[in-house]
Amino acid sequence: MKAEIIAIGSELTCGARLDTNSQWLSRELEGRGWTVQRHTTVADDRDAMVRIYQEAAQRSHVVLITGGLGPTLDDITRETLAEAFDQKLVEDTPSLQHIEALFQSRGREMPERNKVQALRPEFSTSIHNANGTAPGILMKLDNPPCTIAVMPGVPAEMRSMFREQVVESLPTSDVVTRRSVLKTFGYGESDAERLLGDLTARGRNPEVGITASQAVISLSITARAGSVDECELLTAAVREQILNRLGDAVYGEGDAELHDVLVADLLRRDLTLALLESSTTGGLLGQWFTETENHASRLAFSQLYPSAASFSDPELDWEAALRNRSADLLHAGAADFVLASSPAALVTNDKGVPMQQGRVIVVGKELDVSQDVSMTGNLAIFRQRAARTAANLLRLYLLHAAK
Ligand code: ATP
Repeated sequence: MKAEIIAIGSELTCGARLDTNSQWLSRELEGRGWTVQRHTTVADDRDAMVRIYQEAAQRSHVVLITGGLGPTLDDITRETLAEAFDQKLVEDTPSLQHIEALFQSRGREMPERNKVQALRPEFSTSIHNANGTAPGILMKLDNPPCTIAVMPGVPAEMRSMFREQVVESLPTSDVVTRRSVLKTFGYGESDAERLLGDLTARGRNPEVGITASQAVISLSITARAGSVDECELLTAAVREQILNRLGDAVYGEGDAELHDVLVADLLRRDLTLALLESSTTGGLLGQWFTETENHASRLAFSQLYPSAASFSDPELDWEAALRNRSADLLHAGAADFVLASSPAALVTNDKGVPMQQGRVIVVGKELDVSQDVSMTGNLAIFRQRAARTAANLLRLYLLHAAK
């Protein structure tokens, strides 16, 4: 069953406001088995609005519209909806009484202009707005069958109207949708896609989507079926195939962060960490490991090296210095593992492209690994990737040590 969402308002198309309503509504619809096939954002433009409603009603079973229900002259959703489907505007008495009562309760007289908010196309019903003056509109069309629901633009009013009143008026979808997310680290987006091969092809069920953010590749698995159980079976089969193909690169599910997974493992094994960070990770590991009580409980020692010193002494062997300091910490029993990062340097690679250069080191009593994390790209992404690489090296070591 297909749905689409239309967000109305010149403040959205000019960039003054972000359309968050469509994102929220999409999640709600997808969770109820609807496939949202299109979002449209349109300025307060009469002709464009009329055309967009007509087109949407031709291709979707459900059309949700938000915004433009206010009392001002630029709020033209009501009248354009009536025009699009050849209907007259009529006054809805209960809506008018509600608006009048609302003004009375605030000790104010209702401005004449607010009366327009009680208008609706003649073959539609009003949707009560418990949180504001703008009632919504529900319209059911027959040919082709389509339910149109118009809600206020104000996000809080829209949300409660959708959940409390609109949902029950929508035809029920015969499909259940379930979405889960696997988080991976260590592959680039195209490598992950190559390894996953046919699993990421469009039109499959479940559908596997790949998105990359801050060096983490997230794989969303969207299953559609007649029941939750069927969805779960379909998802489990695909999850198994992903794990077979990407192995240890899959570190968690949902919102899991690499450092959360690492901390959980350190807690389980009652192990602690020391951090020796220079500008390659720039204190990011320290920030992650002091974020919550759980995380901080694993952090035995942390030191941030000023990077200016590193640049002033090109002769200094930073890797050797970090290893010596790490060995001292381990020897003194200060921590079980040390995550360290070198000073970063901005260099030009052999193709003349500027790149951030740096290295991370992970040391334990029986562990000593180091990885070059140099890359082209901006400093923030470089640091995120470097810090995650260090956390991941230790995560993988602990994973294999347990086997
Ligand atoms: P009201 O009667 O309260 O004015 P309305 O239906 O006319 O409601 P708008 O005037 O279009 O709604 O918008 C009201 C507020 O809601 C504005 O602050 C606007 O920026 C915000 N808003 C409108 N549409 C969206 C949207 N799609 N996403 C997020 N915010 C929105």
